Amino acid sequence: MTEKHKNFETTVIHEGYDSKEMLGSLSTPLFQTSTYTFDTAEQGERRFAGEEDGYIYSRLGNPTVSVLEERIAALEKGERGLAFASGMAAVSAVLIALTKANDHILCSSGLYGCTFGLLTMMKEKYNITHDFSNMATKEDVRALIKPETTCIYVETPINPTMKLIDLKMVAEVAKEFNIPVVVDNTFSSPYLQRPLELGCDVVLHSATKYIGGHGDVVAGLVVGKKDFLDSVAMTTQKDIGGIISPFDAWLLIRGLKTLPVRLDRHCDNAEKVFEKLRHHPKVANIYYPGDESHPDYPIMEKQMKRGGGLISFEIKGTKEDAQQMLNNLSFLKIAVSLGDAETLIQHPATMTHSVVPEASRLEMGITDQLIRLSIGLEAWEDIWSDVEQALNKL
Ligand SMILES: *Cc1c(COP(=O)(O)O)cnc(C)c1O
Repeated sequence: MTEKHKNFETTVIHEGYDSKEMLGSLSTPLFQTSTYTFDTAEQGERRFAGEEDGYIYSRLGNPTVSVLEERIAALEKGERGLAFASGMAAVSAVLIALTKANDHILCSSGLYGCTFGLLTMMKEKYNITHDFSNMATKEDVRALIKPETTCIYVETPINPTMKLIDLKMVAEVAKEFNIPVVVDNTFSSPYLQRPLELGCDVVLHSATKYIGGHGDVVAGLVVGKKDFLDSVAMTTQKDIGGIISPFDAWLLIRGLKTLPVRLDRHCDNAEKVFEKLRHHPKVANIYYPGDESHPDYPIMEKQMKRGGGLISFEIKGTKEDAQQMLNNLSFLKIAVSLGDAETLIQHPATMTHSVVPEASRLEMGITDQLIRLSIGLEAWEDIWSDVEQALNKL
C-alpha cells in the first residue's frame, strides 16, 4: 500500500503500487494466473473463512487487478473500486445489486443503448420499472420518485446530444429520499468530473473509452463506498462473474498513466475544431459542453474541468448527406466508441442509436442529420482539414 498522493497527475501514476513489494519492477507485474496455492490445508480454510488475507482464485481477486481498483478508487475519491470485463458488466452488476423484483429506477433521459436494453430486460423479467427524466430542476427529479424507487441513474454529458445534468442538485434531492445516485462517468473520466465529490454515491465507467484510451481493451470500473462495493464484490461480481482479465487490467494501468495528458490534448483539439466547425456553412447545429452559448454551459463550469473531447453536429441536408460526409473523410476513421488516440466519427441514427424507436430517437434530438465526433490526439489542423473537406464536398 502506498501513501495517498495529493494531485491527480501523481495518483494516476503511483497509487496502489509499491515496486519494493515486487522485486523493484517499475511496471506493475501481470499476474496472469487463475488460482493461488495455499501452503497448507489449514491456510486454505482460513482464507475461505476470511480469517486471513490473501488471494484464493482470480474471480475473487488478483494482484494486478487490485492495483487498478485502488488507483481508480483514489482518482474518483471513493473508498473502493472494482474492475469488470466491460462497461456493461459494471452497469449490470451495480443495477442488479441495487434492485429486487418490483423496484423502480429513475433515469436521466438519453441512456447508453445497452443500458436501456438492460433496463428493458429487468422490466420484462422482474418487473423492475423505470422512468426517464430530463432532471432540469429538483421538481423534475422529485416528481418521478416513487416509494419503490431504489436507484437514480444518471449519464452526463448525455450521448450524443451533450446535454448536462447538475449532479449536485440530483444528489441533494436523492438525499431527501435516501436513494443512491449512480453516475455513468464514461464521457468525462475522473480527470474532468468527479461525481462522488458532488454528493453522488456510485460512479461507473466504460473503461473501454478514455480510461483505456488506446482502443485495445473492453473493460468497466465502479467506485463507491466500501460497504456497497463489498456487497457487489461478494454478490453480482462474484456470482455473475463479469470480472476483468489480468491482462486487460494491466493495459488499463498503462493507459491510465497518461489520462490527464491525453484528456488535456483531447479538450484542446476539440475546442479548436469546435470553433471552426460552428462557422462552417454546412453545419446547422452543434453540441459541445465547452461552448459558452450551450444552454448547459453553467453546469459544465460548475462540475467539469473542461468540455471534453466529444462534439456532435447536425448538417444541413439528408440522412444520405450525413452518411456521405463520413464517406468523404480521407484518414479519419468511421467507428463507434470514443476516447481513443484516433479521431472517430459515427452516425448515431443508424449506428449507436439505431435500436431506439424513431419517435424516441427524435425526441432525444438524434436526427438523421446528426454526426458524432470523438476528437483524437492528432494535430487539430489535420483533423479539421479532413472534416472540412468532407463537408465541402457535400
Ligand atoms: C461504451 C459505453 C458503455 C458500455 O461500455 P462497454 O465497455 O462497451 O461495455 C456504457 N456507457 C457509456 C456512456 C458508454 O459510452
